[in-house]
Amino acid sequence: MSTTEQTFIAIKPDGVQRGLVGTVISRFENRGFKLVAIKLVTPSKEHLEKHYADLSSKPFFPKLITCKLTAPFNMLSGPIVATVWEGLDAVKTGRSIVGATNPLASTPGTIRGDYALSMGRNVIHGSDSVENAKAEIENWFTAEEIISWKSHSEDWVYE
Ligand code: UDP
Ligand code: MG
Repeated sequence: MSTTEQTFIAIKPDGVQRGLVGTVISRFENRGFKLVAIKLVTPSKEHLEKHYADLSSKPFFPKLITCKLTAPFNMLSGPIVATVWEGLDAVKTGRSIVGATNPLASTPGTIRGDYALSMGRNVIHGSDSVENAKAEIENWFTAEEIISWKSHSEDWVYE
């Protein structure tokens, strides 16, 4: 397990609209993770289709991205805050901070368990494996946008 593992975390349009950007960022910062990339983006349909490529055959896929009828309540409806966080076991721990896909099954203390009620309005995305995290980071950021820096807290977070 490495302290330089990275995960892709995105605050979805509903999270941005509801003013939860600061809350989400605080939770990752407070846990001890290091922010290494961040930007506000309005991705294209093609970009989102690539991001969610593994879900393209799922019945909820059109609702999630392409369906005009569900606009403005899908991933295309407004700015997304894309971030990359670095730290020990960042992918798995990131998922535990995010919570379960269905917010009703998310425990209190997780982001979805504290701020969401519906699957299609579950505030946040988090990579589900180290391999997918790598691909997602590449899909959302250029290599130059990932910043390498030393946090002054590092020695107080890691033994
Ligand atoms: N989703 C949905 N209905 C479902 C399953 C998923 O609307 O039955 C949405 C939900 O917003 C979820 C996203 O599609 O966050 C991606 O699904 P995935 O299974 O990857 O869940 P996640 O990794 O986000 O927990
Ligand atoms: Mg997923």
